[in-house]
Order: sequence, then C-alpha cells, then structure tokens
Amino acid sequence: MIPVKGYEGKRVAVLGLGRSGLATARALAEGGATPLCWDDNPAARERVEAEGFTCQDLGKQGAFEDIAALIVSPGIPHLYPEPNPVVAAALLAGVPVDNDIGLFFRSFATPEWDNFETIPRVVAVTGSNGKSTTSALIHHVLDTAGRRTQLAGNIGRSALDLPPPEDGDVVVLELSSYQTDLARALTPDIAVFTNLSPDHLDRHGGMGGYFAAKRRLFAEGGPDRAVIGVDEVEGQFLVNQLSMGPADDRVIPISVQRKLTGPGWQVFVKKGFLSEYRKGRQTGSIDLRSINKGLAGVHNHQNAACAYAVCRSLGLAPRVIEAGFASFAGLPHRSQVVATQNGVTFVNDSKATNVDAAKMALGAFKRIRWICGGLEKEGGLGDLSAHAGEVVKAYVIGREAAGFALQLKDVETEVCTTMDAAVSQAFRDAEAGDTILLAPAAASFDQYDSFEKRGEEFIRCINGLLD
Ligand code: ADP
Repeated sequence: MIPVKGYEGKRVAVLGLGRSGLATARALAEGGATPLCWDDNPAARERVEAEGFTCQDLGKQGAFEDIAALIVSPGIPHLYPEPNPVVAAALLAGVPVDNDIGLFFRSFATPEWDNFETIPRVVAVTGSNGKSTTSALIHHVLDTAGRRTQLAGNIGRSALDLPPPEDGDVVVLELSSYQTDLARALTPDIAVFTNLSPDHLDRHGGMGGYFAAKRRLFAEGGPDRAVIGVDEVEGQFLVNQLSMGPADDRVIPISVQRKLTGPGWQVFVKKGFLSEYRKGRQTGSIDLRSINKGLAGVHNHQNAACAYAVCRSLGLAPRVIEAGFASFAGLPHRSQVVATQNGVTFVNDSKATNVDAAKMALGAFKRIRWICGGLEKEGGLGDLSAHAGEVVKAYVIGREAAGFALQLKDVETEVCTTMDAAVSQAFRDAEAGDTILLAPAAASFDQYDSFEKRGEEFIRCINGLLD
C-alpha cells in the first residue's frame, strides 16, 4: 500500500467504505493518520470495524470539528445533482474535500527515489469510452515488453492499494470523471483523453461540467505528455489550449477519422492502418486489420492509437508495441466474443452502457441481432438508429423495453423484456453469418446490480441454449 502523507497525527474522515474507501482507511492509518469512517450501509461499516477502524456518524452535528479532511468515494455525489449531506456539511465547515486519487498523487513520491535510475512514472487515462481497454492495453504492452508496470484506479485495485513503486515502475491509472473532478492533486507524467460523449451528466451539471471534470487531469497537473483524441471538438479544444503551437510535441493528437498532419507528433488510424508521424516524417506504423482478437472495431483502433502514443512516449519500439497488441486478449464485457455455434457468433458488450459505446459496437460487426435496452441515460437515444445499418433485428430488454423499442426508428424490434427471452428469440431467428450482440446503450440497474452481472447473465443464457 501507499502510506498517505501529510496527515500524520490528524483525524481524517472517510465517506463510503467500498473498495477504495477501505484502501483509503488502511493507507491513512499506515501514514500515521486516524481515519474516521462512515457508510450508510451497516454491512460496510461492520467490515471496516472488523479491521479495527473506528466508524463515526459523519452526518451528526459537529462531526467535522477537529477533522483535517474528508475523503469521498467516487460513487457519492459531491456537487450535482446535489451534494451528499456529509459533503455539504464538510463544505460548510471549511474542511478540505478530496478523494483517494488526490491522496495517491500527494503520497506517491518518496525520498528513496533519489537512489533510482529511472523515477517511477504515472500514466493516467480518462475519456468517456475506452478508458479500461486503453489502460489495460498500455499495461499489457509494457508488461510483455519486460517493463515493470502496475494497473489501478477505476480498474483492478484501488490506487492506494498499490505497492510502493520501485525503480522504473510505470503505474497506469484509469480515472473516471468523478475521480478527476474531486482529486486535489492530479500530477500524472502522461495523461490520456480518449474521447468525449454525453455520460453521467446528472453528476456534473451537464456537458460543460463533465468536460471540465476531465480537463482537470491536464490543467491541474500539467503532464509532461498529453495524448488526446481529437475526433470531437472538445479534444481539439484541449490540444489547442495545451500546446504552444503546432510543433509542440508534448501534445500528441490521435484520430481514427482523418490523417493528421503538421510539424508535431501525431498518431492516426486510416482504414485499419495505424501511422505515427513526427516532424512531418513517418516514424512508425502497425497494420491493425490483422489484430482482431482483442482490438476489433474502429473504437478499439482509437484505444490502440492512444496506447501506442503512450508506449512510444515511454521509449518502446513500434515492433515491440505491435507484438503486445497481437497478444492482447481484450477485456470481458467489451466486444467479447463469447461463443460461435452454427456460424452464429455471440458477442458480449454489456459495458456499452451509453449510446456512443453502443454505436461503436454496432459499427464493429455485420448482420447483427442486437440485444439492447435497460435503464436509459439522460439525453435519450439520440441518433442511435442511424448507426443501426447492420442490424437485422433488435431484441429489447429492460423494465421499460416497450418505450425503448419505440425510439428505435427504421429498425425491426421485438420487445423481449428479459435476457433469457431475448437470447432465445435471437438464436431462433439467426442464420449462419449473423452476430448476436449484447450492446444495451443503457445502464443495467433496472434489472441487474452491474453491467458485469448483465454480461454474465447473457453468457449464462447462451450456455443454456448451446448445451
Ligand atoms: P470505459 O472504461 O471508458 O468505460 P471500456 O474500455 O470499458 O471503457 O469500454 C466501454 C464501452 O465502450 C464498451 O462497450 C466498449 O466496446 C466501448 N468502447 C471501447 N473503446 C471505445 C472508444 N474508443 N470509443 C467508443 N466506444 C468504446
């Protein structure tokens, strides 16, 4: 674990006792602070009390007397749609509010680094979609290249749970907008912005707030290198703000829509072919078309281009990166090929919880029998139907399946409501060459605890059919 610095002998409140809250309490104690923990859920409180930590109702009058900071879990609103009452009390009491990522950055470097040949570095990845895939891919490529690397943040373990870094370590952190919004310190060496599309708007007071939360990763820390997807105007704006001019190679723009030119450093993908240009000359290339296992579809080409730029910044050769890409198996619930039967392929993209991610999945396959629906995100389905050109038929699930189906224009739909009914009907209808794709374009919480549980149910239904 990374012992937290700066709160020795002080009392620090910890709100939310899930994975990151528990790691925070441990890391605070290890650094010499006294964590005072709270969670509305008694079972979560029992878990931390069993470890010997003190729980104290932070909602009580005067709870913030003699408290040095409040550390908040990412799932708890700190501002919109309205602050959690405990956060509101801390704000009124003038107590600094932070999160585990802020504590991580303030505590990461140690005096031992004076003996290191290569100081540890942090790569932080944010964006609306592709964060997990890009983070896991960077980690995988570095690992297969024999570099010391750790993966944490929104994926895998909590950042404070990592072992203290050693000589040459590269920590890859996946950071959500909730995390970047609140962290009081954000100082990665390399920062990545994959893309931006509407998501979590209720937590950020709209699109401007959502973008502002992600921008903090670049504005607060001033990373040595910024890798930025420029296929939306927000990415273009970010590049414009960060770079001193077109030749400034501290900023690497990424595109999967167009060839990028100029005197700086660029990575782009056209027709499945990744190209790197620096100072107007091509300095690397990878044919991504043959790398289908873990990186199918244009969206994954965007992730690959971001990962490529990061790995090049860390000194890896194009051929080494290519070998890492080729052995990347992909992540569960993201365009995951689950089974093939009678020429019908089943793909689990349960992680397509928003419209943009679903569009990408719809663009990555042919002759699609599309399982979609669930808890709709704010902003509706937008122009989703316009991306359903390869959809033969949609099988709609979720509590509001009928309403969801009505919004799908020019697509044949069947209201199935349950996963079981959708998978069975799609398989009955399917012909060889079809892909049965779960890409809900909606959150899972109307029927499941998480997108993982939804994906697992999809797989269970398939296994039931194929037995
Ligand atoms: P995140 O961690 O940002 O949620 P993931 O890598 O877990 O990203 O992918 C989330 C969903 O978005 C999946 O459905 C996946 O197929 C899709 N996706 C992955 N990469 C991209 C991308 N670059 N652009 C759009 N959608 C993507």
